[in-house]
Amino acid sequence: MTSIQNKLFIDGRFVDAVDEATIDVFNPHDNTLITRVAEARAADVDRAVEAAARAFPKWSATAAAERGRLLLKLADRIEAEADGLARLEAIDTGHPIRDARNIDVMRTAACYRYFGGMADKFQGSVVPVEAGFLNYVQRAPIGVVGQIVPWNFPLMFTSWKLGPALAAGNTVVMKPSEITPLSTLRIAELMAEVGFPEGVVNVVIGYGHTAGQHLAEHPGVGKISFTGSTAVGRRIVDASRGNLKRVQLELGGKGANIVFEDANLAAAVNGSAWAIFHNQGQACIAGSRLIIHERVADEFLDRFTGLAKSIRLGNPLDPQTEMGPLTSTVHRDRVLSYVDIAREQGGEILAGGKPPADPALAAGCYVEPTVVRARPADRVSQEEVFGPFVTVTTFKDDAEALAIANSTEYGLGSGLWTRDLSRAHRMAGAIRAGMVWINSYKRVNPGSPFGGVGQSGYGREMGFEAMHDYTEARSVWVNVDAAIPPHFKR
Ligand code: NAD
Repeated sequence: MTSIQNKLFIDGRFVDAVDEATIDVFNPHDNTLITRVAEARAADVDRAVEAAARAFPKWSATAAAERGRLLLKLADRIEAEADGLARLEAIDTGHPIRDARNIDVMRTAACYRYFGGMADKFQGSVVPVEAGFLNYVQRAPIGVVGQIVPWNFPLMFTSWKLGPALAAGNTVVMKPSEITPLSTLRIAELMAEVGFPEGVVNVVIGYGHTAGQHLAEHPGVGKISFTGSTAVGRRIVDASRGNLKRVQLELGGKGANIVFEDANLAAAVNGSAWAIFHNQGQACIAGSRLIIHERVADEFLDRFTGLAKSIRLGNPLDPQTEMGPLTSTVHRDRVLSYVDIAREQGGEILAGGKPPADPALAAGCYVEPTVVRARPADRVSQEEVFGPFVTVTTFKDDAEALAIANSTEYGLGSGLWTRDLSRAHRMAGAIRAGMVWINSYKRVNPGSPFGGVGQSGYGREMGFEAMHDYTEARSVWVNVDAAIPPHFKR
């Protein structure tokens, strides 16, 4: 059984917060208390940054292959503990155990393994400059990196950030969400176990406006990598001004998911349900706007709402459960408030829109899969609901579909379902989004860049792009045998 750790991880040790404050962590299935974790405030963040700064010279000078070896060992260790980690993630976040086990844990291990392999393969370059000179460009680590993640995929998101940062030779202060800190603390424990040196990774659990803000402002931090809401993303940019730290932002989304009249409807119905209802819709890339060709809309919606109504809600620990609770009561109430907003603006609730009737789920944060017919300009079609809530609208031709798809301020994930190859590529090139899935949705791979445009943020996670973003270019000029005429003739 995976242990539940509840202290801060600083300088290789689990420690209490300086002022011994704590945060309650609840199981969203029934709102019972799982544990109380130490709450980091400014003084604790300072300690973590100092530990990371002390560890940086040695870690950055460690052979890249050795850094990679530790990440590979961590990946193996995570796989060996897959069941326990999945259980921990399920009780902390509400992810159904089958998804936590087969998606979250597996993708987490794959991410650490990918960057473990990357560590000694990411190279600098030699630039062809004028004769007599050698110019080489090194990719140097930045230093201490601050990382802030939200509550929706804690295990996976910490791997997306820790993997490339550590492979590139940075040291890290990680602030998970105060709502779902448990899997990150366990990963810290496993890192210590497989031999990561003290101070290389530090984990501070704390609230955003205190610990998060302090980390984002900290003069000892060279880069902040942030995943979260667009509103907080703007605050991160402001907080970074003092020492002009580098900022990478993975923010909100309002994924357009377009179903054309020639789509394979069975695949589109199933894939679109996955696009929105996986993890109860709490995904930045969720396909939360269904845009359907008017000729197939009735048939599609008939099948889609039928599927939505049949999704099995239940205790995340039950292997039969297909959808668990939302991650907190506050968030459940926020999602339900959008049902009222939809009605006020004339939206039609085609499925769900309320908590399930099952008394066994009454104490938890459950919301039924919700399908709402709405106009593209309505608030529910423009604002990120971040729940099992999908809007539906229809279109007549490709131009209209594209205009609707591109009508929000976000640009993160998007999908399209068609058998017409030319249309698929044309639309993929025209949709304003960082990621486009054709005849699928939500594919993620550690080698493929992940990120958005517009109000969805900037910078990319995963792949070579991430390694690039976690390093600085250092250009070194060597005069090999150039005879430089004196500039000042004396
Ligand atoms: P949030 O922005 O409220 O919080 C995210 C993290 O930032 C948390 O750890 C929080 O404690 C911290 N934080 C809050 N205020 C802060 C401040 N002033 N300074 C520094 N840190 C602060 O978001 P959330 O509610 O936890 O997560 C949901 C949001 O995250 C959604 O908008 C979703 O789209 C977005 N998200 C984006 C991606 C992506 O990759 N683009 C992925 C997942 C979630």
